[in-house]
Amino acid sequence: MQEVMERIQMIAETEDVPVLGTSPAAQMADEPEGYRPEDLLPGAKSLVVFGIPVPRGVYRPAAPKVIENVWRTQGIYYRRLDDLSLRIAALLEETGDSAVPVFGCSPFSLNERKDVRGHLNQLRMGEVAGIGTRGRNGLLLHSRYGSRLMLGGVVTTAGLPAFRKPETTEPGCPPDCRICIEVCPIKAISPEKRRVNIMRCLQYTSRTPLLPKLRFLLLRALRPRAAERLMSITSLDEHTLHVCSQCVTTCPYGTGTP
Ligand code: SF4
Ligand code: SF4
Repeated sequence: MQEVMERIQMIAETEDVPVLGTSPAAQMADEPEGYRPEDLLPGAKSLVVFGIPVPRGVYRPAAPKVIENVWRTQGIYYRRLDDLSLRIAALLEETGDSAVPVFGCSPFSLNERKDVRGHLNQLRMGEVAGIGTRGRNGLLLHSRYGSRLMLGGVVTTAGLPAFRKPETTEPGCPPDCRICIEVCPIKAISPEKRRVNIMRCLQYTSRTPLLPKLRFLLLRALRPRAAERLMSITSLDEHTLHVCSQCVTTCPYGTGTP
């Protein structure tokens, strides 16, 4: 497995992926049923997670066109992350193991409360691999990249050695910082749980002409699987504009000025 790990590191180096980690899949065995590594891939043994930072200028709060720049960046970076996840999964399968990519954004599913979820919680993958820590804004914080890391990953039956690059010890949010909580226009952030109410956030921020809200809400109530497919087809990439990223743009973590 050491050789496979070296080849994964090589992909990260040549593709300018600065943050990479692995962890045993069992570290996420306490995720909700249907969203555990074992549910995505029976026999799952390891997780691979990696992050690429969005340039700081894209999220600069007072910058002109910040919404349009975030929109374009997300469309490109999610494709890049997904491509890397697929490449790493294919590499892991060369040795006879199985591997499933964990895509950066869509496809989505609806959980038992009919809340939107990814297939596996990438933020948690990052936490258990030790590549960052969870902030009050519900995102993975890294002392070099702040809240700006976008994540990709893979679940595999391969037993990978523990790996983390760069080594990091994150202090986490400063005790008195409440910037993201105060700036959120719809108060969707629960600082104690370090979580965002994802449905409130999405309802407010995501705009796409391809997904009429009424149609989605009706499908969500009556035919959840159809709602999942519609949302996955019409979301992100080129299609969805997020009119708010304030919990990221204003977060001072990693800038030396919290
Ligand atoms: S993106 Fe905007 S609406 Fe959503 S949690 Fe962050 S600040 Fe709140
Ligand atoms: S704005 Fe402050 S409290 Fe919120 S995530 Fe960033 S450092 Fe933590």
